[in-house]
Amino acid sequence: MPEIVPLKAFKDNYIWTLRDGKSAAVVDPGEARPVTDYLAREGLALVAILATHHHPDHVGGIAELVAAGKVPVFGPKGEPIPALTHPVGEGDAAQIPELGARFSVLEIPGHTRAHVAYYGLGSLFCGDTLFACGCGRVFEGTPAQMLVSLQKLAALPDATRVYCGHEYTLANIRFARAVDPHNPVLAAREARARALRDAGKPTLPSTLGEERDTNPFLRCAEPAVVESANKYLGARAAGPAQVFAAIREWKNKF
Ligand SMILES: [Zn+2]
Repeated sequence: MPEIVPLKAFKDNYIWTLRDGKSAAVVDPGEARPVTDYLAREGLALVAILATHHHPDHVGGIAELVAAGKVPVFGPKGEPIPALTHPVGEGDAAQIPELGARFSVLEIPGHTRAHVAYYGLGSLFCGDTLFACGCGRVFEGTPAQMLVSLQKLAALPDATRVYCGHEYTLANIRFARAVDPHNPVLAAREARARALRDAGKPTLPSTLGEERDTNPFLRCAEPAVVESANKYLGARAAGPAQVFAAIREWKNKF
């Protein structure tokens, strides 16, 4: 089973790197340099690239990486992914034989039109859709579509490790506490996340069980979250989609 290592990029991006033996694959290489430095230092050969969506901070390094040696590039069909060789959508699989890995592709539109997640090895690579204790902004889809995408991810097993694209956890928890102020699991999570950041460590991966217990965007039917959404709206939200839209809008201004 490959080891999964975070490489830091830009201010708060992670390039998740899977390695086994002499082979490595990367998820969302927004820049090439952290990857080429790591591969050289560790004596690894790049064997595949996985992209979740087309934003430059996720795909900006792909052209340079494949120029150094052609490898399969998996990414959502319907989005402009540089050097894409394997366009994928719902029900497809991304196979990386050198790592003994196979990932199922889930379509999770909302942040972008055709955003995908990769699920396998008990791990979920979900780009900018699900974050630790938060979710991505809705740029190219609708809030209702984003909620369906998040619900699809939330249906995976509790123990699933969640590898998202950014280190936003502490800021997300601060907002989550405003929405869900009496959630004791959330308070404990904040203490744990703060200790990790103080030690210079990533707060990721989280688990889906933890997200279901604490992430307000996966808790749009919980009375405490509904009540906060109603307060924000100054009216009664008609259902989970409206609750989601309200707290997503609130988070943008928070
Ligand atoms: Zn993005």
